[in-house]
Order: sequence, then C-alpha cells, then structure tokens
Amino acid sequence: MIKGNDPILLTPGPLTTSLETKQAMLRDWGSWDESFNAITTSICKDVVEVVNGKGSHVCVPLQGSGTFAVEAALANLVPRDGKVLVPNNGAYCARIAKILKYLGREHSVIDLGEDRQSTAAIVEGAIKMDPRITHVAQVHCETGTGILNPLPEIAAACARQGKGLIVDAMSSFGAVDIDVSKHPIDAVVGASGKCIEGAPGMGFVIARKEILEGSQGNSHSLAMDLHDQWTYMQKTTQWRFTPPTHVVAAFRSALDQFKAEGGTAARGARYRRNCDTLIEGMTALGLRTFLPRAVQAPVIVTFHAPGDPAYEFKSFYEKVRARGYILYPGKLTRVETFRVGCIGAIDFNEMRNVASAVAETLKEMGIKQVSPAKAAVTA
Ligand SMILES: *Cc1c(COP(=O)(O)O)cnc(C)c1O
Repeated sequence: MIKGNDPILLTPGPLTTSLETKQAMLRDWGSWDESFNAITTSICKDVVEVVNGKGSHVCVPLQGSGTFAVEAALANLVPRDGKVLVPNNGAYCARIAKILKYLGREHSVIDLGEDRQSTAAIVEGAIKMDPRITHVAQVHCETGTGILNPLPEIAAACARQGKGLIVDAMSSFGAVDIDVSKHPIDAVVGASGKCIEGAPGMGFVIARKEILEGSQGNSHSLAMDLHDQWTYMQKTTQWRFTPPTHVVAAFRSALDQFKAEGGTAARGARYRRNCDTLIEGMTALGLRTFLPRAVQAPVIVTFHAPGDPAYEFKSFYEKVRARGYILYPGKLTRVETFRVGCIGAIDFNEMRNVASAVAETLKEMGIKQVSPAKAAVTA
C-alpha cells in the first residue's frame, strides 16, 4: 500500500498536476469579482496565443469536460443544414459521430481502422465525392490509441476545397504544434485537464471570429450556446452561468508554468522523452506497441496485452497501482491492450520507474509470455 503519496496518474486526463497547480485551488473566488474575471480574460488571451490565433481567433471557455466543448463547437459552428465529414480512426472520432447524431446534423464517417492515419488525400477524396459536405471534424491526436493525424496537410486540403475544419485537439493542445495562422482552421477545441496540466472541469473553443459571430441561432441548447457565452462575456467579462472557479484558477497557474517551461516546443519535447523512455523500457520487457513509431503521438501509448493466459487487466492494474502508478485500460474492440499516458507533471524518471513496476508485476503474476498472442498482432 502507498502511504503518504498519491499514485502517479498515467492517464490522459485527469493527469498528475504540479504542487503549484494544486495550491492554486486553495482559494475561493467570487464569480462576479473583478480579480476572477481578469483571470478568465487572461486565460482566453493565452490559449489563443498557444495556437498563434491572435487577431483572427477568439476563445470561448465552457464549463464541463472536454466532450462538452466538442459538442458545443459542432452545435454552434456547423449550421443546421450543414454536413460533416468525420475521418474515423478511434474512440474520440466515433464520439464526434455520436454527437452529430444527437444534434441531428447530417454527417458521413470514413472508417479508417485504428492504426491508420487520416490524410489529406483521404479527406480530399471524400469531399470531392460528396458536394454536400460543408465541414470536416478531425481529431488531432486520437487518444483512443495515441495516433497522430497530420493536421497541417488536412487543413490545407479543407482550405483547397473551401470546407470548414473543426479540430478536437484535446490531447494535443500544448504538446503538438498547432498554428492557425499557417494552417487554416475554423475551431480548435481543448480542455483544462490535458497537456496544459490543469485540473479537469473546463473546455475551450478557439474559433475564427467571423465564424463565431455568424453562428447565432445554430445552437440547439442554451447551456452549450457558445455565441451567447461569448457575447455575454464580451459585455460583462463574466461567465454566463456559475464558472468552475477553482479549476479556472488552477488553469491560470498551469498556463503560467507552461509558458515558463517554454510553451508547446518544450512541453512536447518533455513528453517525447517520456514516450521514448516508456517504449524503450516496456519493449525491453517483451511488450509490444499497437502503433508503429511513425504515427505515434507523444501523448499516450497503447501496448498489446501479454499473450500469457495468466494475464488479466484488472489484477495487472491493481498490482501496478500498488507500486504507485495508475494505468489506463485499452479502448480497442478487436484486440486486448492497455494504455500508458506520457503527459502530466512527470518526467522520464517516472517512465523508467513504471517500466520497473510493470516488470515486477508481470513476475508476480507468473507471466511467462509477455509478447502478445499471435492472433492479436495479425488481427
Ligand atoms: C479527453 C479527450 C476528449 C474529452 O473527453 P472528456 O472525457 O469529455 O474530457 C475529447 N477528445 C479527445 C481526443 C480527448 O483526448
């Protein structure tokens, strides 16, 4: 049993935050108070700058987990008679399709398989075949596996075809470069509890200003109406409804630490080293990654489960947890996997240590065949 230490979260949100970020939550804030509203304003300015959107884009923060912000972006920025193309290579892409179904927005899904990137050629080919498509909804890093989709070329393809692009950048924002001044994007969606390393509880939509301004009346829902939230905030500097004050304060602190670290380039480099150290340590044990290195984002790694009949995720999870690390179950339907996050206020030492914790656990469970079952790899 762990005494006195919280386990390290190797989950892609919530994730392990710094002490400073946690300490930022020790104060109560009045939601009408000027000092709190100044925090909201500064957060909005900073996240727009992370994607180089100053002058062209504005930020609308929204209460709730990341999915709330994705749903709000789709509901507000796609007109009711629009049609959305969803390149699908994982669980979060599938979630976008499900949201569109709930919203009653017409859409078509390209099923790529979970180990295949979305590309400009695929997106452009699908757009050409269906002139009714008005928008593409692209997940940047598909956290279901950890696959990185090549955003710059997809943005260029959408621009060539004159289509809108909404990006779920939840698990890449702050870790993988996104530059809306070079690569045309209508909206980038992120959240507080991912690579900026804040606490979970708020999302944000960074939208092209004219598109947001023209979106009045699109939303089916009052709570998710980004146009209304933004207009109200412009007028009053306040959130429309009760803001998650502690989460906002923690996010301010997390953004300060992000900037002090050196922004996206430095954070991405730390995560890349985490990811490399993790893969090196785990493959030395005989484990195998689900994705080839070339398409792996430095955010979360999917490993094939050991092929040994003695393996069972729940007891593997609990034994690794007892050694101080919280892993994540796999999210694939065809093959048995587990996932390990590389993000959060952790460095490569934690990644070395988790590989040791996994080694001890495999030994304790009596697992002899660490490599995956043959059927899993060829599936
Ligand atoms: C985390 C995440 C979301 C949002 O999930 P929530 O559980 O609502 O926070 C959406 N898309 C991606 C790619 C994510 O990683």
